[in-house]
This record gives sequence, C-alpha cells and structure tokens, in this order.
Amino acid sequence: MDTQPTRIVIVGAGHVGATFAYSLVLGGLAAEIVLIDRDGSRAEGEAMDLSHAVPFVAPTRIRPGTFEDCRGAAMVVITAGAGQRPGETRLDLAGRNAAIIRDVVPRIVAANPDAVLLVATNPVDVLTYATLRVSQLPASRVIGSGTILDTARFRHLLGEHLRVDARSIHAYIIGEHGDTEVPVWSLANVAGMRLDEFRRVHGHADDEAVLRSIVEDTRRAAYLIIERKGATYYAVAAGLMRIVEAVLRNQSTVLSVSSLVPGFYGIDDVCLSLPSVVSRVGIDRVLQLDLNEEETAALRHSADVLRQVNRQLGF
Ligand code: NAD
Repeated sequence: MDTQPTRIVIVGAGHVGATFAYSLVLGGLAAEIVLIDRDGSRAEGEAMDLSHAVPFVAPTRIRPGTFEDCRGAAMVVITAGAGQRPGETRLDLAGRNAAIIRDVVPRIVAANPDAVLLVATNPVDVLTYATLRVSQLPASRVIGSGTILDTARFRHLLGEHLRVDARSIHAYIIGEHGDTEVPVWSLANVAGMRLDEFRRVHGHADDEAVLRSIVEDTRRAAYLIIERKGATYYAVAAGLMRIVEAVLRNQSTVLSVSSLVPGFYGIDDVCLSLPSVVSRVGIDRVLQLDLNEEETAALRHSADVLRQVNRQLGF
C-alpha cells in the first residue's frame, strides 16, 4: 500500500506557480506542496500566505524547499521562467526559458527519476520537448499544459455564443499553444450533435463571422489579458489542476495537452497538443483524430514551426 503523503513540487512560485498552489490547497489534492524558486524569500512568503488558508480547507503542508524535495514527489510542475516582454520575440523568450529548463530539469530528475513532470513555462511545447530531451524520461511522463487553456477558452466562447454550458461542448484546439494553434471545427459537437447541425437547428446558421472571431479571440486571449493586467494565471492554474487531478486520481481523462507526437499525420520528433488520455502513468495514449485536409495541413505547419524553434535552441 502507498503510505507516502502525496507531495507536489512546484518549481517557480510566481503568478502561475503561486496561483496553481492556491488551487491545489483549495482542491485538497495534495498532502504536501513544496515551492522552489530562485527567489527564496518569494517561495517562503508564498508558502506562509498559503499555509494560512489551510485551517479553512483540508490539512496540507506547504513549505519552501530545494530540488532535494523532488525525491518522493508524485509530480513536479515547472512554472519557472519569464513571460514575454513588450517587443520581445518568441524565440528570445524560448532561449531564456530553455536555459531555465537546462538548469532545473537535471536537478529534478537526479532527485526523482520516477515523477511525472508537468511543464507550463512558455513556449510550452518547445520547453516540453526540451524537458523530454534533457530528462531522458519516457515520453509518457513529460506533459506540457499545451492547449488545455486554449481549448477551455474556445469552449467558453462557443458556449456563450450557442448558450450552452461549455462543459457540454466538445471542441478542441490542437497543435501549438500559440499563434499556429488549430481549431478542430470538423469534429466539434454539442452532446454528439455536429456543430453545423446544432447551428442550423438553433438559429446560428449564418454565424460564420462569429465563429471566425471566436477562433481569433481564443488565439489572442493571452495578449489581450497581458495588455490589461500584465499576466495570465487563474485559468492556467485551473487547467494545471485538472491535469494533476487526472494523474493523481488515475482518471483517464481526455485533455488537450502537449507531448511527443507518436508519428500521427506524418508528424514526429516534436511536442504539441492532441487530445490525450491522462492517467497515473502520465500520457496513457495520444488520440489520433480524423482531421480533414485543411486541419491536417495546419497541424503539420504548427509542427514545422515548433521543430524549427527546437533546432534553433539545439534540441
Ligand atoms: P513570474 O515572473 O510571475 O514567475 C516566474 C517565477 O520563476 C519567478 O518567481 C522567478 O523567480 C522564478 N524562476 C526563474 N528562474 C528560475 C529558476 N531557474 N529556478 C527556480 N525559479 C525560477 O511569471 P508567471 O506569470 O508565473 O509565468 C511563468 C511562466 O508561465 C511564463 O513562461 C509564462 O509565459 C508561462 N505561462 C504559461 C501558460 C500556459 O498556458 N502554459 C499560461 C500563463 C503563463
């Protein structure tokens, strides 16, 4: 019997890491949460503040720590690294954050070669691939948060438009978490009813322009939020929670997360998001959707763009 308390280590206690830790505390998923940050006093302060929420929820130990604390952790979640600054290219960000991956991943794996690693730092697909290569772990145990957030934004906007709970809308954004992401319109449905059919029956037959703006708003959401408040963190924290829950509770949930593509659509040697069954093993299976030609071409383009950045970074 597993008698170890479930420990989650979060590397990076900034906006995303601390908000995710807060979600974990409220969700009661972990017995112990360890925060590691280059800025030790920040990790300490966040741990203190979070600990004071514990009397209102389930007992959880929250503390600052070191990479040694990865030993025995069920999952290590990487949120360390900068977000894009005004005028900065994606590649600049990739270079800076890849250096962080090269720094932290060997230390995580040295302490714990058995954990499932979850990467949220951007550009997440590139850094998921970097984590896989640096760690040399099996592909199943390296997950990127990928388009889990884009899919949530897409379903939210579609739900508002169609006046249906987003949870009843089955529609995915796949590919890069970024500018080349791909909406899978051909398979989108509401409770099994094809989207086109739903739109025809429920008075949305002529809403092509709205659908185009939903894709655009999904793609630009992070830019719009960053313009207004400097960073995004609530929704990604909820998405990370969902992934962690699927792993810890062995739920076999289908989530659009980033992992190594197993040769589907002629794509390999790159990490990007496809709907994947997530369970205790990490990525249990990646699902091969029956995409149309346009979607397949867009996905291949996304893969090419990401592969090019991987190569430029030396991965
Ligand atoms: P932030 O600046 O608030 O926090 C980053 C933290 O990482 C800081 O506390 C910093 O001290 C720490 N850090 C930097 N280098 C480190 C190292 N080598 N070891 C340990 N800690 C280190 O940034 P944020 O807003 O929390 O964003 C973090 C990352 O998450 C960014 O790359 C951002 O783009 C990304 N992000 C991803 C998604 C997604 O959907 N995947 C969504 C939002 C943000």
